[in-house]
Amino acid sequence: GEGVRLQKVLAKAGVASRRAAEELIDEGRVEVDGKIVKEQGLRIDPNKAVVRVDGTRVVIQEELVHLALNKPRGWQSTMSDDLGRPCVGDIVAERIAAGQRLFHVGRLDADTEGLLLVTNDGDLAHRLMHPSYEVSKTYMATVNGLVQRNVGKQLKAGVELEDGPAKVDQFTIMDMGEGKTLVKVVLHEGRKHIVRRLLEAVDHPVIRLVRTDIGPVALGEQRPGTLRVLGRDEIGKLY
Ligand code: URA
Repeated sequence: GEGVRLQKVLAKAGVASRRAAEELIDEGRVEVDGKIVKEQGLRIDPNKAVVRVDGTRVVIQEELVHLALNKPRGWQSTMSDDLGRPCVGDIVAERIAAGQRLFHVGRLDADTEGLLLVTNDGDLAHRLMHPSYEVSKTYMATVNGLVQRNVGKQLKAGVELEDGPAKVDQFTIMDMGEGKTLVKVVLHEGRKHIVRRLLEAVDHPVIRLVRTDIGPVALGEQRPGTLRVLGRDEIGKLY
């Protein structure tokens, strides 16, 4: 069924044990959306329902969920898509408990693959999106042409883009051959298409782009289209 059982919601909110919460319900002391509820097992949406015990509002703390998602190439970063295109919401759908509202933190271009964080932790999302919170992101980019050493110096010094200067923190040539170069780029800003635009500006248009790290969180061997629950230590370091 949809929703979470009222006694469970009360227990999670720290009002009482589940058994004691059932007694409160029996005694007619629990109100949902303005109505006394006496039946056991009513399922409610913990994010929407207004629950009161003895007239006092119960603050419902939603369990925080932090997921690492490997977005496949060609998929939208969004939780739903009006045009019916594949989107990360499709990947997350099975993992969403009733009433949970998960959202993605930032975006990747449809053509970009890799790490996207999905959470219901609004505080964390705000922090990570805020310009002053300088979380570094690592990308592996396959670019056209054989990249010369001075390119890294140029990108670290900063280049002028349409919407102002931009620079990278680290630039490493990883592999080269057949007119292509694989480079690792670390930067801490999130303007739209920033990596593609930076590399275009130094005449090495991107062929393939994969985000491998967001701060302390790494994609590792996680396969495209899959989710991973972040560890406590990772979440701690993100904050
Ligand atoms: N930079 C880009 O150009 N594209 C992305 O998806 C992310 C960073």
